[in-house]
Amino acid sequence: MEHYEKKWNNKREDKWDLSLKNMILPAVFLVIFWGLAIFLSLQTGVGFYLFNFGYIGTSVAIGIFFIQTLPKKHKAWGRRTSQILVGCYMLFFLGFVGRENMQIEGFFMLFLSGVFAAATMHYLIAKIAGPLIFGRAWCSYTCWTAMILDLLPYKQPQQKRIRYLGIIRYLYFFLSLSLVLLIWYVLKVPVEPQSTTELYWLVGGNILFYSAGIVLAYHLKDNRAFCKYLCPIPVFQKITSRFALLKIKIDPAKCIDCGKCEKVCPMDVKLLEYKIHDQRILSTECIWCSTCTYECPKAAISVTLGLDAGIAERLNYR
Ligand code: SF4
Ligand code: SF4
Ligand code: SF4
Repeated sequence: MEHYEKKWNNKREDKWDLSLKNMILPAVFLVIFWGLAIFLSLQTGVGFYLFNFGYIGTSVAIGIFFIQTLPKKHKAWGRRTSQILVGCYMLFFLGFVGRENMQIEGFFMLFLSGVFAAATMHYLIAKIAGPLIFGRAWCSYTCWTAMILDLLPYKQPQQKRIRYLGIIRYLYFFLSLSLVLLIWYVLKVPVEPQSTTELYWLVGGNILFYSAGIVLAYHLKDNRAFCKYLCPIPVFQKITSRFALLKIKIDPAKCIDCGKCEKVCPMDVKLLEYKIHDQRILSTECIWCSTCTYECPKAAISVTLGLDAGIAERLNYR
């Protein structure tokens, strides 16, 4: 019996699954993003919002659609497809062509200057307010830094997390903020949106992010080491993603405690401890990558809608 069940499961995992239930999540994302695109373009009269949010939402929905429907061994390409579609658009089109400094310093500068440009909008929606609905999905489906980091060899961390090293991200955040405040209030250098200076900031910031990310990944044998310890963006995301309406959950009735979900989690989340406490995955380190959901042999993990929050970060440390 067990033999036939295994054979049937393997057969199922080798095929596309185009069942209706797999269309729900991509459809939810399409509705959210296109709703936002239509609302903003009607409210402001700026047609670009329609294109921008429509494009991003459609790209993310395509990624989720592939994760839901592709054979198991190819599912990771769903997320990568979305990362490449959105990451290249934001970095090359909005960044290099449009000269929008999407690095965190660009956001701080525009915020101080009161200019409501693409970078301000991007941070407010993707990294501050958006996580109230879909947690840190930005980090899995759209980040142009992770677009490269996820192609490196260490898809699963080879060792557990280093305790307290994540403090560096807060230092980076406050250093960036201090630098911008110094330029703005002490040196009184004016910020020209979409200027060549903005372009230099963008190029410099990205060179720093990519080189630090790649060095850390190889040194710690962990593609997401940069995300865990150095990147300042989660300082924003970790506040609002705590309250995310969409979070993943283990169904205790289906779970057989095999531990595979924790083994494959790129962010070292202790999923089973959340199950023991009858909680959804409340960790703000969960980046919503879906790896645990499709690697679970019992299909016990799914995305759920609910209202909750918790301060306990249950993570696997060395
Ligand atoms: S933590 Fe930073 S580098 Fe990593 S995916 Fe999120 S925004 Fe990108
Ligand atoms: S992979 Fe699935 S069955 Fe195994 S421990 Fe995790 S939730 Fe339970
Ligand atoms: S808990 Fe699951 S969805 Fe969250 S980061 Fe880990 S593997 Fe990805």
